[in-house]
Amino acid sequence: MPPKIVLWFLHLLFPKECVHCGCILDYRNLEYLCPVCRQLVSPILGAICDRCGRPLDGEIIPPVECPSCRKTPPFFHRARSALLFKGAGKSLVLKYKYSRNPYLSAPSIRWLLKAGEESYNWSDYDHVISVPLHPRKARERGFNQSAVLAAGLSRRTGINFSRRGLVRARYTNSQTRLSRKERQENVKGAFRITNNAGFSRKRLLLIDDVYTTGATVNECARVLMKAGAQQVDVLTLARAV
Ligand SMILES: [Zn+2]
Ligand SMILES: [Zn+2]
Repeated sequence: MPPKIVLWFLHLLFPKECVHCGCILDYRNLEYLCPVCRQLVSPILGAICDRCGRPLDGEIIPPVECPSCRKTPPFFHRARSALLFKGAGKSLVLKYKYSRNPYLSAPSIRWLLKAGEESYNWSDYDHVISVPLHPRKARERGFNQSAVLAAGLSRRTGINFSRRGLVRARYTNSQTRLSRKERQENVKGAFRITNNAGFSRKRLLLIDDVYTTGATVNECARVLMKAGAQQVDVLTLARAV
């Protein structure tokens, strides 16, 4: 952390703005959210599907699986997310993804750590891995946010970050406008394991920014399990509602 005086001068030149409403923040604000918008972030609490982490309505005594996981069990063991992808949480994730400036990495990693600590035991994992971005997309975007999240989590938890074990086998088009079925088709065969990845009998924690239909992380988990992984759990910054 730079000295306070440096932070203060930086703030004069580049005032910190709330990612949701755009108001100017105190230079000591580390969350990039004003107190009002901070209340509009929805951490995922309450009942969820034990497998995919989908929030469930009503008073449900866990563990329970949602209809979709019962019908087609995912290849990953469990998936959990820190925030709902709506309101101020959505602003944070989108700004982080598209700002080409990883200044939002630190608050995002803190949200991820908090969610992981509530659901997982860090000592259960041999490697942290991130959903790989095609090099072309990484160039377009300026940085690979999922890899930055995974690296941050690795630093804070001591779990080894395997950077090159899981890679993109081909370029995939943007999934934003695709349906669940189309997303599954779009990511089929999009990933492969490199030689010497060493995932056999290993317990893996897979990191991504947003869980939308789960098609991407599920395809990664399929490839990882096929390569002999013992278990794949998923942790994402946000989850679509
Ligand atoms: Zn605000
Ligand atoms: Zn489920």
